[in-house]
Amino acid sequence: MIKVADSSKIYLSSPHMSGREQLYINEAFDQNWIAPLGPNVDNFERELAVYAGVADAAAVSSGTAAIHLALRLLDVQAGDTVFCSSLTFIASANPILYQAATPVFIDSEPDTWNMSPGALGRALQEADVLPKAVIVVNLYGQSAKMDEIMAICDRYGVPVVEDAAESLGAEYKGKKSGSFGKFGIFSFNGNKIITTSGGGMLVSNDVEALRKARFLATQARDPAPHYQHSESGYNYRMSNILAGVGRAQLEVLNDRVGARRSVFDRYVEAFNEVDGFDFMPEMDGTKHNRWLTTLTIDREKVGFTPMELIDRLAEDNIEARPVWKPLHLQPLFEGMKYYPHTGEYSVSDKLFENGVCLPSGSNMTVEQQERVIAVIQEMVERVKVSE
Ligand SMILES: *Cc1c(COP(=O)(O)O)cnc(C)c1O
Repeated sequence: MIKVADSSKIYLSSPHMSGREQLYINEAFDQNWIAPLGPNVDNFERELAVYAGVADAAAVSSGTAAIHLALRLLDVQAGDTVFCSSLTFIASANPILYQAATPVFIDSEPDTWNMSPGALGRALQEADVLPKAVIVVNLYGQSAKMDEIMAICDRYGVPVVEDAAESLGAEYKGKKSGSFGKFGIFSFNGNKIITTSGGGMLVSNDVEALRKARFLATQARDPAPHYQHSESGYNYRMSNILAGVGRAQLEVLNDRVGARRSVFDRYVEAFNEVDGFDFMPEMDGTKHNRWLTTLTIDREKVGFTPMELIDRLAEDNIEARPVWKPLHLQPLFEGMKYYPHTGEYSVSDKLFENGVCLPSGSNMTVEQQERVIAVIQEMVERVKVSE
């Protein structure tokens, strides 16, 4: 038999169903709970809270909605400032604008690629008025230096919102990522480590605050038989059908972390010896979930740029991406304050210039991963030969 080379599209990170989702969806249909409330929502909240090691969780329509609710609960208002990691997806900071507040962006440090405690300390020291919140992102599944960040924020009495959209299943010093701040948020968007197609979760040990979150997420309806409202709310709750998908996904979360870590290990094995490739570190005392395998490329040493690598992979129907463009470089945030890691050295600028995210789905086959590796290998070899 002739083996035909598989050239089907390899995605950066595609949904990976367990097969049990349909069971919970059918339950919802059988009970006619086709609404943004119901048993799947209640159970998904409880199960995720247990998993993350927090007192309570509120299921919402997206990770962005969860961040927005956290800012509302922390009383962020027009004219307030909120500090936020710069190296992240725009969703971390958009809710600051929803509240007409002003973001101040904080650089990364090299050990975790996440918020630099040094830069955060300087920003707080120099602030005329303290921020209402600090949004700390755990990028690509690696926890930030939470001990240092919590200590600094506690010293100033500023609450932390932990954006763990990418780090569900990761750990920091034996505790689950997302459980450190006053509020933590998770995302179940289609590309995340587990998915409900779209959805999010707000978690906290403050059960009362999450009660308020559910109130705000259902149009802030006062407890009266008629429709009465004293403050402005949102339509942010998660559907009972999607929560069913979430329950089945949560059952396999640990397997998904294991699979993504194996994908990472295979890339490392293939490219450990390449001078000029540096994989995103896993800091001591943390467990990275390796949502995306990410590395920096030294173009002087390997002879090609991250964009050239991405374009070459695309020719073979393989999706790779640059690292997030830092928010302090976004046209949307032009003129906003930014605190680099040290005096003038910006770590996130360098990570953006040199970083690449490789396909990392938990459903990638070994053959698919070998296809990715072969293309990259060929580029590395070609440059070597031409020298
Ligand atoms: C995906 C993501 C979000 C937002 O999640 P949605 O569910 O898509 O709204 C927030 N922050 C980060 C860092 C993300 O990667």
